[in-house]
Amino acid sequence: MISVQQALQLIEQQTQKTSNTVTISVSEALGYVLAKDVFSPIDMPPFRQSAMDGYALGSVQETTYTLVNEVKAGDTEDPEIKEGQAIRIFTGAPVPSAAKTVVIQEKVEVSNHQITLQESTVPMANIREVGEQIKKGDTALSKDTKITPAGIGYLATLGVTEIEVYKKPTIAIITTGNELVAPGQPLSYGQIYESNSLMLVSALQKSGFSAVSTYKVSDNYEDTQALLEKTIADHDVILISGGISVGDYDFVGKALRNIGVEEVFYKVKQKPGKPLFYGKHKNKTIFALPGNPASSLSCFYIYVLPAILKLSGYSNYHLERGKGVANSNFTKKGERAAFLKAHNDHGQITILDAQASSMLRSFALANTLVYLPEDTTEVTIGDTIEIINLP
Ligand code: AMP
Ligand code: MG
Repeated sequence: MISVQQALQLIEQQTQKTSNTVTISVSEALGYVLAKDVFSPIDMPPFRQSAMDGYALGSVQETTYTLVNEVKAGDTEDPEIKEGQAIRIFTGAPVPSAAKTVVIQEKVEVSNHQITLQESTVPMANIREVGEQIKKGDTALSKDTKITPAGIGYLATLGVTEIEVYKKPTIAIITTGNELVAPGQPLSYGQIYESNSLMLVSALQKSGFSAVSTYKVSDNYEDTQALLEKTIADHDVILISGGISVGDYDFVGKALRNIGVEEVFYKVKQKPGKPLFYGKHKNKTIFALPGNPASSLSCFYIYVLPAILKLSGYSNYHLERGKGVANSNFTKKGERAAFLKAHNDHGQITILDAQASSMLRSFALANTLVYLPEDTTEVTIGDTIEIINLP
C-alpha cells in the first residue's frame, strides 16, 4: 500500500498533456487550453476612440470654442474640425482625426453654439489611441492559456472566431454491482439506488468535461472483462466504480490484469478510498474507484480530476489547497491519511458529521476536504489544518 503523496506522484509522472489538438469556435472554448499562440488580427481599438462623453477640440489653448458638429458611437464619418472649434462627442465614438483632445462634459459650460472650458486642457486627453490595448499581429493570448469567460470576451473584441486548443479526453464511466437500481425504479429487498454514475457525470460536467458515456455491468467476470475491453478501446479515460475490492464478486482487478492493463498502483493508505486502482493501457488512463459513494467522489477530486485536467493541457490542475482554522474537534482512528468532508466559511473549518464512506450526506453539504496526514490523530478547535477546496 502506498501513501497519498506517492499515489499523486505516480499519477503526475504517468500523465502528460495530450498532443491532440482541435480547432473550435471561440463561443465553445470555455475551459479549453490554447494549443497555439493567438495573434490579434486587428489593432484594438481599431480607430481613435473617445473614452468619455464630452467635446472634441480642434486646439487646446483657447478657453471658448464654437460648437460645429456631433459624433456618436457607430458614426463612420470623419468630420472636419479647425482651431477654436468643438464637436460634441460620446463614449466609443471615433475622435475626428484633426481633433487635438477631448474634454469631459462636466468641465464645460455650454451656451448657444459655444462651449467654455472651466479649466485648461492638455493634448490627447480622454482619447483611446489606435492599438492601445493590442496591435495587429501581436500575441493576444499565448499557448497553454486556459480560456476563461474574460478570455472569450477578449478574443471576441479582436474578432477572433476560431482557436486551436488541446482536445479534451473522452471518458467512460462503468458502474459495477448486482445490487444497483436506477433512481425512479422500485427498490426490491437487497437493492440500493445507483448514485455514482450521476454524481461523477455531474462532477465532470462541472469542470467542463461533457464527452462522458456511462455503462453498467453486473458482478460477472466475463461481462466485466468484455465491457472493459470495449470501453478502453473507445475512450481516453475509463472510470470504473466498485468491484475493485477483495470480495469474491469483485472482478474488476482480475479483468484489468487479464486484458493487459498495467497496474501503476493499487491501494492507497487513505480513508476513504483505500482500494483505489490506477493503471495505463498504452495511452489510455484507467481508474478503478471504490464503490462506496463518498470514497468514489473523494478519489475523483484528489486523483482523477487533476489527471484529466493535466491531460487537457491545464498547468494548474490540482484543487486549490490551503490552510484553515478548525472550528470543531475530530479524532482520527487508524494510521491512514484522511480526507474529511468539511465546510469552509472564510477559513473557519467545520468538520461535518457522517464521515463514513457509504454516506454522501456530509459531502452534499461540504465545500472543502480537510486533509489529515497519517501521523495526525487529533484535531482540536483552533488548530491550523490543511484543506483542499472543492470546485
Ligand atoms: P464495492 O466497491 O463494489 O465493494 O461497493 C462498495 C459499496 O458501495 C457497496 O455497499 C455497494 O453497494 C456500494 N456501491 C457500489 N457501487 C455503487 C454505485 N454505483 N452507487 C451507489 N452505491 C454503490
Ligand atoms: Mg460491488
